[in-house]
Amino acid sequence: MKKRDIDTRVIHGRSLAPPPHGSLSPPLFQTSTFSFSSAEEGAQRFAGEQEGFVYSRLGNPTVQELEEKIADVENGEAGLACSSGMAAISAVLTSTASSGDHVLVSEGIYGCTYGFFQLMKERYHVDYTLLNMEDEQTIEQEIRPNTKAIYVETPINPTMKLVDLDMIHRIAKKYNLFYIVDNTFSSPILQRPLEHGADVVLHSATKYIGGHGDVIAGLAVGKNDFISHVRKASLKDMGGILSPFDAWLLLRGIKTLSLRMQRHTDNAKLLSKKLKDHDKVKKIYYPGDTGFAQHVLAAKQMDDFGGLISFELKGGKKAAASFMNQLKMIKIAVSLGDAETLIQHPATMTHAVVPESVRKEMGISDSLLRLSVGLESAKDIWADIEQALTTL
Ligand SMILES: *Cc1c(COP(=O)(O)O)cnc(C)c1O
Repeated sequence: MKKRDIDTRVIHGRSLAPPPHGSLSPPLFQTSTFSFSSAEEGAQRFAGEQEGFVYSRLGNPTVQELEEKIADVENGEAGLACSSGMAAISAVLTSTASSGDHVLVSEGIYGCTYGFFQLMKERYHVDYTLLNMEDEQTIEQEIRPNTKAIYVETPINPTMKLVDLDMIHRIAKKYNLFYIVDNTFSSPILQRPLEHGADVVLHSATKYIGGHGDVIAGLAVGKNDFISHVRKASLKDMGGILSPFDAWLLLRGIKTLSLRMQRHTDNAKLLSKKLKDHDKVKKIYYPGDTGFAQHVLAAKQMDDFGGLISFELKGGKKAAASFMNQLKMIKIAVSLGDAETLIQHPATMTHAVVPESVRKEMGISDSLLRLSVGLESAKDIWADIEQALTTL
């Protein structure tokens, strides 16, 4: 049978087994362990001679159901569920790079991912180079004999800068590098890096995949061999597994992922235009804006432009704070991808730890705000933004 559309597969995707009793919703196996029918069966499970569950740190049917679902939606072979986005990122990286290896990393990655690379360097002698990945030659010049992997995030927070996924694939292939992409910002609905040659795709499922602001979780998708290697080499012994209940919440959330991404995007497109035209707004950063520097690349590798907009106000840091304080419906909060529209101030929040000079270099000014456009009516979101702009 022809593969169904992604909009259908978020609902009817690959499944471990049909739910018992004709249950429409997948069962929640809220259990730590699994009993064996005999001593011999227990021994066989442990020896890997018989399929079946043993202990929930090693595998749980509800968690596995989610792993099947995300693998299908990302068009990959196997999925891995972890207790947070950072648990997925660290499990994949510790299973990829060993002491003495080097990793090329795109500039502007998520703050804690940067922190993890720093920890790997200081404590475990895995070196890394942060790099602007716009130019193929510049990247090639940074490749060392011990370079093992290339790690990319696109688009990035909060400037929405993109990395060309096909270009990185060419380099990864040429130099035999393991190619990893953090796809949190786009979700598999808008961008599927495995289709652009990536070896592994990572998600903070806390964001769009969960979508309701009630779960912290991480997911990875890649080849069967690699995912089972991560499961054995890192996840089993480091223990950052996802709980069955959180997996169940994600299975619930992912059913509406396609519908939600459409609404987030439609709202963001409308709001980006209104923000751009407003005289209190200095500049906007939205991949869907035809004036955005990488608009053409975004249109090439993303199915649509997503729900995140950053913008600068006239009037610096003071204007940014006063604007946020005047908002009545929009919540001041980090995280993204929730039903509620959220706003945050990178210079004093998500990027406060970045030294000011580096922040400026990254294009994060004191008046830059990042909006995670929610699912409310665009009219009401704009009304809130407009009344707050008027007070400036
Ligand atoms: C939030 C986020 C992470 C970390 O995920 P957690 O679920 O908070 O651990 C990683 N990458 C990106 C791009 C994120 O936005």
